[in-house]
Amino acid sequence: MRVEKETLKVGEICDGAELKLKVVKVSGDGGPVVAFTSSIHGIEVNGFEVMRRLYQAVLDGGLTGTLIFAPMVNPLAVAMRSVVTPLDSMNLNRVFPGRAGGTLTERIAHALSKYLADSGVEYLVDFHGGGYCCESAPHAAIVDVGDEELLEKAYGMAKAAGFKYAAVLRRAELEEELRLKATLDASFMRRGVPSILADFGSWGYQERYIEEVVRGLINMLKSLGALKGDVEEKPNPIVVERLWIRANRGGMFYPEVKLLDEVPEGGVLGRVIDPHFEEVEVVHSLMRGVTLLIRNYPPVFTGEEIAMLGVARSGIHEQGL
Ligand SMILES: [Zn+2]
Repeated sequence: MRVEKETLKVGEICDGAELKLKVVKVSGDGGPVVAFTSSIHGIEVNGFEVMRRLYQAVLDGGLTGTLIFAPMVNPLAVAMRSVVTPLDSMNLNRVFPGRAGGTLTERIAHALSKYLADSGVEYLVDFHGGGYCCESAPHAAIVDVGDEELLEKAYGMAKAAGFKYAAVLRRAELEEELRLKATLDASFMRRGVPSILADFGSWGYQERYIEEVVRGLINMLKSLGALKGDVEEKPNPIVVERLWIRANRGGMFYPEVKLLDEVPEGGVLGRVIDPHFEEVEVVHSLMRGVTLLIRNYPPVFTGEEIAMLGVARSGIHEQGL
C-alpha cells in the first residue's frame, strides 16, 4: 500500500498566494480506482469526516484498489462558510468539467477533473448536504445520462452503500434544469464513470449520519473489489424523483413534518409567520412523497426551498413508498 499526499495548484489570489487543492491517494494492488470528493459547497463538510474515517480504516489494511480523497475541493468557500466561491460568486457544482482558461471557479473544476481523469478514476462519490438552512436525510442522487448500464452501476453503488432512497435525475429533467448538467457527478457520468452524489446532514458534522454512511461506503468498496471482505447484501434503494417545494411568502418557517415522513398530496409541510406575527402562508405538498430535506433555519423569502420530497416513480427497481 502506498500513500501519496499531493497538492494541486489552481491559481493565485490577489497577494500572489497560491490557491491549492490537497488530495490523498492510497494505492493498493490492482483493484479499481475510487474517488471521494467533498466541500464543493463550502458549508457541506460532513464528507470530510467520512473520508477521514475511510482513510483511517484502509490504513489498517485490506485495500486492494486505489482510493482518492479530495476532502476540501473549494477551500475559499469553506473558509467563508459559503455555498459559492467567494471571489467570483460562482457555484462550483454548476461549472464541471471546468475550463483551464476560465474563471477561478472554472479552474478549480478543471484542476480536479483533470487530476481525477489522469488518475484513471473508475467510480466517484461526491458528498453534499443541506448546508446552513436545511437538513437532508441520507440518500443518493444519480444523473441518468442515457446509458442504462452505467445507471445500473451507479444504482449498484447506492445500493451497496446502504442508501434507502436513490433520486434518479432523468435526461428530460436535466434539459429543464440546465444547471444540473454541470455537476461533478454528472460530468463523470458523461465520461462513463459510475458516480453518485451522497447527500446527507446539515452544516457541521452530524454524527447520527456519519458512522452509518462510513459503514455503508466500506461495504460499497468491498462490492467494487477495492477492499477485501465479505459484502453485505442490502435492499434495493427506492427510486424517486426530487420535488422541490418553495415558499411563496417571506417570514419565519415553522415545519410541521420531520425528515423521512411520508406526506400525502396536499399535506401541510409547515407555515410561514411574518413580522406582524401573522400566518401568511400554509405550505402544502404538491404530491405524495417522502421528505428527504427540510428547512431547519427559520428565515425564508419568496422562492426559497423549504423541503425536497422524494416522489416514487415508475422505472427501475421501484418499490413504492
Ligand atoms: Zn451541495
